Amino acid sequence: MVRTFMDSPVLGDTPIEWRYSQYRDFDGVRFPARIERRVADLPWYDLAVSAVRVNTASAVIVPPEVAANPQPSMNRIDVTELAPGVLNFGGGSHNSVIVDQKQGIVVIEAPLNEARSLAVIAKVHELFPGRKISCVINTHAHFDHAGGLRAFVAEGVKVVTHERNAAYYTRAWKQPRTLNPDALSASKRKPQFETFTVKYAIDDGDRPIEIHAIEGSGHNDAFAMVYLPAQKILVEADAWTPTLTGAKPPAIINPLWINLYANIERLANSTCSASRRCTALRRALPTCVRPWAGPTSAARRSWSAPRCRRCARVVQQRQQREHHERQQHASEVGAILFPIARVHAATVAAAGRARKLPDRIRLCRSDRSAANDARGEVRAPE
Ligand SMILES: [Zn+2]
Repeated sequence: MVRTFMDSPVLGDTPIEWRYSQYRDFDGVRFPARIERRVADLPWYDLAVSAVRVNTASAVIVPPEVAANPQPSMNRIDVTELAPGVLNFGGGSHNSVIVDQKQGIVVIEAPLNEARSLAVIAKVHELFPGRKISCVINTHAHFDHAGGLRAFVAEGVKVVTHERNAAYYTRAWKQPRTLNPDALSASKRKPQFETFTVKYAIDDGDRPIEIHAIEGSGHNDAFAMVYLPAQKILVEADAWTPTLTGAKPPAIINPLWINLYANIERLANSTCSASRRCTALRRALPTCVRPWAGPTSAARRSWSAPRCRRCARVVQQRQQREHHERQQHASEVGAILFPIARVHAATVAAAGRARKLPDRIRLCRSDRSAANDARGEVRAPE
């Protein structure tokens, strides 16, 4: 067994270990047939080795599109105005969105690590001298979206996140940080959290903010999106991955997109729709999409064991109809999200023009730079 420690922006000094076992003879080479890797005492991978070849490593070929794109800078902040008082901080691999509220500046997302957050904080102070950052909103606990939170906590900024994430961060941030001490480990400041399970609102005359839990997503189970009802801007992270600008909708729609759309639709049709904000959200939704009206899983189960030929035929017809409806719904979701994707590209390419865009929600990705979107570059979904 080999055990050591590595630094993690979220976990601090993180134990990492490899366990080699079941040594066997592979054509004269004694090698472990099983290799396990554990990180933070959790299983990371478990390999079963079936063959061993000696000295066959070949050179790694870097694809030209990768070679042509230098690694994004941690310190570079490209500011794009999405609406008056709402800014996208791009320039790196992950974005933050800044909302100027009367009570202070709200930062949505603190991705990556301390270095990125320090650049974001410095830019906020440069653009809004003398103003305080009132809170940082965190969409989920994946490390590339949570690694920069501690830098805000060290500045005394409270973190708004799902209740479960707060419990997790409270525990994780107590880990020792001897390998790479950060500002929070030096200041020993206690984190302050504002939490939610379903919805959280930050009122403001011009730029109110709503945070809504994204329910039923396969990406994360303590997941949130941020909606600016006055500007009709939805900030999301990892629920929607844009494809190449101008590309046709794919034949198979990513289930995460369907889930995001269902969540937007759920909000638009929620019982609080009498309120002005929800009405605005409902209006912002394209009207050409029917809500998915398929049978519940319980109903589906009850059809699964037909007793006679006639029943079987009825079941088959219903299943075919259900399948057809599901396919149709998926393609409609794709058709809707694609125009939104293009709206988003237009938004970041020409913010002034974007402000006059039709009555639609503009999606704002939080983990891709505006410049990348405008150029239509694609990164694999995480
Ligand atoms: Zn994620």
